[in-house]
This record gives sequence, C-alpha cells and structure tokens, in this order.
Amino acid sequence: MTTNAVVAIHGGAGTILRASMAPDAEARYHAELRAVLVAAQRVLADGGSALDAVTQAVRLLEDCPLFNAGHGAVFTSAGTHELDASIMDGRTLEAGAVSCVKRVRNPIVAARHVLEYSEHVMFTAEGAEAFAQEQGLEFVDPSYFHTDARYRQWQLAREQQRAMLDHDGASLAAAQSTAQSTAQAPASASNDALPHEPLDPNRKFGTVGAVAVDLYGHVAAATSTGGVTNKQIGRVGDAPLIGAGCYADNATCAVSTTGSGEMFMRMVAAYDVAAQMAYRGASLEEAANDVVMNRLPRIDGRGGLIAVDARGNVVLPFNTEGMYRGYARVGEAPVTAIYR
Ligand code: ASP
Repeated sequence: MTTNAVVAIHGGAGTILRASMAPDAEARYHAELRAVLVAAQRVLADGGSALDAVTQAVRLLEDCPLFNAGHGAVFTSAGTHELDASIMDGRTLEAGAVSCVKRVRNPIVAARHVLEYSEHVMFTAEGAEAFAQEQGLEFVDPSYFHTDARYRQWQLAREQQRAMLDHDGASLAAAQSTAQSTAQAPASASNDALPHEPLDPNRKFGTVGAVAVDLYGHVAAATSTGGVTNKQIGRVGDAPLIGAGCYADNATCAVSTTGSGEMFMRMVAAYDVAAQMAYRGASLEEAANDVVMNRLPRIDGRGGLIAVDARGNVVLPFNTEGMYRGYARVGEAPVTAIYR
C-alpha cells in the first residue's frame, strides 16, 4: 500500500494570461477543477482503483461545458461533433480508445468499456458507436454536444477559413460578443457560454485528462477531447492514441497530454515520458520536462501534460502561458492552478 495516492487533472493549455482573465471566469474554472478533483479523490480515498478515479474525473470534465470534451466539444467543418477518448491501466497495460464518435454521451466511458470488454484496443466512428450500443452505454442526440459558445467559435473559424485549436475560437467569440453587446449573448449564456477568456488564436489548446496513483501503487491515465474547431471530418488527433495522448505503466508513470495534437503524435509524447524513465533512468520530472520543454518545441509542439508515478510524484509541465490543472492527494486539500 502506498500512502501517496493522488489524482491530477488538466483542462487544456494555451495562452492564458492573468491580466486578460475576468475574475468570475477564473473563479469558475477553479471551482470546476476543484469539484472534479474532490470527486476523484474520494474514489481513491475509498480504496477505488486509479482506473476508476481517472474515469470518474474525465467523465465529469466531459459533462462540464467549460472544457472541450463531451458536452461543450468543438464543431467540425461540417458543423458536427466528433469525439475522441482513451484510457490505460498501468497495472495491466490494458488500454481502450474510441475516435470520431458522435452520439455517445461520455466517450471516456466507451473507451473504458473497450478496455474491459473488448479484445481490441480502439474502435472508430460507426464501429465505435455499434460497440457502445452493444455495451448499453448512454446515447444522446448530437444536439447535446452543442453549446452556443462553441458554435460562435466555429462560425469565427469558418469566417477565417481555418481550423482552430480548441478554446481559441471560444476566446475570440467571447471577446467579440463582449465588445459588441451583451444583448447579443444567447439566452442560455449563463449555462452554455464560456467565461470570457484571454485570446490568442494560435496558442490555446483544449482536451481534458486525468492521471492517478491509487492506494495500492497502481497508476492509470485517461484523455478525452472534441479535437480542434473546424477540423476536417475524420481528423483524429493525439488524444485517443495510446502512446501519444495517453499512456500508463506502473513501472514508470501515467501521462495525459494536451496541445497541438499532430506534434504530440509525431513525438509519441506520452510514451516518450515513460520511455525516458525506463531507458535512461530519468526521474518523472526530468522525463516530463524534457518532452514538454525540449522535444516538443523542436517541431513547434505547444501544450503540456500531467503525469504521476507509482510513488505519488506529480508533475504538470506546459510550454504555454497557462494550463488549467490541479491535483489532489488523499487526505489533503486539492490544489488548482491556471497560470505559470
Ligand atoms: N490534442 C488535442 C487534439 O489535437 C487538442 C487539444 O489538446 O487541445 O485533438
């Protein structure tokens, strides 16, 4: 038994500047992160597995419209939503993933079912939905994923005729609607609108993730995303790819990433943290920092990751101005942060 059980989460990285963040938005992000941490911490405190803790954390993050996963996911170029998620158990090296799902309420739950009940590791699109249906998982009308804030973000991306990373367009949309008039805000703004965020069209990323080590020293990781705004149909990023957006091995660490997915795929970023620990004896901190601060920047990869090892060490490095993040040790108050 380890006394160092801990869960860490992220809700995306990017240009998040204190000066341009409205105080109420900041408070709302902290409150959401804390609530998720408390729920996942309780799973660990009750003797639950790291796998259950990360599933619970990511499921709650998917249900929160502030983050680009599940409800609140970004729009594709066709005005639809295609969701990706993955999960890995560091105890057994079992993994599950789904990509391009459109009607499964919680993609992370589908990924978890793939891990537990399928001989395969990843299902995509119709096949993933057929599997989820067989498993009796909750389906929703695609409109469930619609939020007005993300819709405005998509419209802006279309006007600019490009794909936007995660919260980018939301920031633009929030800034624009504030500048114009609050009268133009949708009626459901209190529920659906993202808080006013600082904006930088090229430097904000989404995705949610969790890593944990349980009381028994087992680690697990989970990642879920809507991808990037205005992405082409069928585009798949790093989030559902074992080794790129998610990895877990008791012998090394558990990792969940967020950032420019294509670069994280090319760097096999999550696995590289584990590999550096295994092959060159790097500590968790050395390995994670090398990937985020040295290797990814070589190909202009921006973003961050969260990682834990079986001894309860936690790292949350990012090479952007901010990353929505937090961790909670069993028996201690959760810690949340946004900026450097
Ligand atoms: N990595 C995600 C993707 O490329 C996006 C993000 O983390 O913001 O789909």
